[in-house]
Amino acid sequence: MRIVRFAHPAGMSFGVLDGDGQVAQIEGHPFGQISFTGQRFAAADVRLLSPILPSKVVCIGKNYADHVAEMAALTGDAPKAPLIFLKPSTSVIGPGDAIRIPPGSTNVHHEVELAVVIGARGARSVTEEQAMASVFGYTIGNDVSERDMQVSDGQWTRAKGFDSFCPLGPWIETDLAGLGKDPADLAISCTVDGEPRQSGRTSQLIFGLPMLISYISQVMTLLPGDVILTGTPAGVGPIAPGQRVECTIEGLGTLANTVSGADPTSTAGGSR
Ligand code: MG
Repeated sequence: MRIVRFAHPAGMSFGVLDGDGQVAQIEGHPFGQISFTGQRFAAADVRLLSPILPSKVVCIGKNYADHVAEMAALTGDAPKAPLIFLKPSTSVIGPGDAIRIPPGSTNVHHEVELAVVIGARGARSVTEEQAMASVFGYTIGNDVSERDMQVSDGQWTRAKGFDSFCPLGPWIETDLAGLGKDPADLAISCTVDGEPRQSGRTSQLIFGLPMLISYISQVMTLLPGDVILTGTPAGVGPIAPGQRVECTIEGLGTLANTVSGADPTSTAGGSR
């Protein structure tokens, strides 16, 4: 099933995107037993939002050998254990939304990543054998990163935490197996203005999904809807205002985002 979250005239809802371009509205959230409202929308008439609003996005750094190699001069060798960091919930945007370049920045990079969405039971202290039962489904993430700040700060919160630095979508696929796909071996790629940048397969992950979920769950409880970004293959590079970034993963569609300048809107002065 393709789970989407979408804006419609009466508000926003979760829904199921079916093969004939219709979105069937879901009552409440999509975890556990789904109940439909009976309302259907043409997909062309609704705006897709990020398919989930996670309480946190847990990211894995340096998890493809070819990307570790291209980054070695900046961030060193492959880690002995998963390198984890967080992106704030406020970094999440949806398909079609703009990635906003911080003022003065000239070195913001795209990073296409397989995104794991945690399901209703969450995950705390699960073994590798138990880990995959915690998965609700999969979507595409873009771990947008300000490379100069990543190096100068020495830790990555600022470099990877700006508003809009975590595009997610376009939907959550809850049955990859039913499509004949294995999350451990999916083609993953990214283009900028149609030019190929990144290309790889999730089979190249240094630490695989069961290990990552188990490892993170020993540190922090993964809540329903939390997202794990599993690392990016080689080919990262800069993006600039006016460009269009497309991240594609086999079985999960394409996550497309524009790039624009910073949003100067302040919460001060009562404008919001
Ligand atoms: Mg990354």
